[in-house]
Amino acid sequence: MTNTIGTAAAAQSPAVLEIAPKRRPYWQAAPCPVWCSAEHTDDAAPVDRNHFSTWSAEMPLTLEAPEISHGAAGAVTAEAAVVEVYLVQHHREIEPRVIVGDQGTREFTLTPAEALELARALTIAAKLATPEVAR
Ligand SMILES: [Zn+2]
Repeated sequence: MTNTIGTAAAAQSPAVLEIAPKRRPYWQAAPCPVWCSAEHTDDAAPVDRNHFSTWSAEMPLTLEAPEISHGAAGAVTAEAAVVEVYLVQHHREIEPRVIVGDQGTREFTLTPAEALELARALTIAAKLATPEVAR
């Protein structure tokens, strides 16, 4: 028995689409890193020529004090403190920076190696603190 499904599908498939490479601004000599989601333009100021990650992680910190806001008529709102992690890299830098911050007030900038070292330290601390979970 001959299988003709593959042959029929190939005969009816549309022409292969060629995806044109994204045009880079005149100042960008190399393509974006795979993690970059920025839209770069010719008119970007040199200081703003950064790659930004699509990926980010945000985590509310339950042991930190919330940000309290007082609204009209005595309304009070409390917003949890949040730690955020993302990548940024100026187009002239050789590797990305790992940014760990609280969305505005305080940021730590780490090399990828420092981020891995911090991750290992946090993992050790969390396992020491929760031996029943770590096993
Ligand atoms: Zn980019």
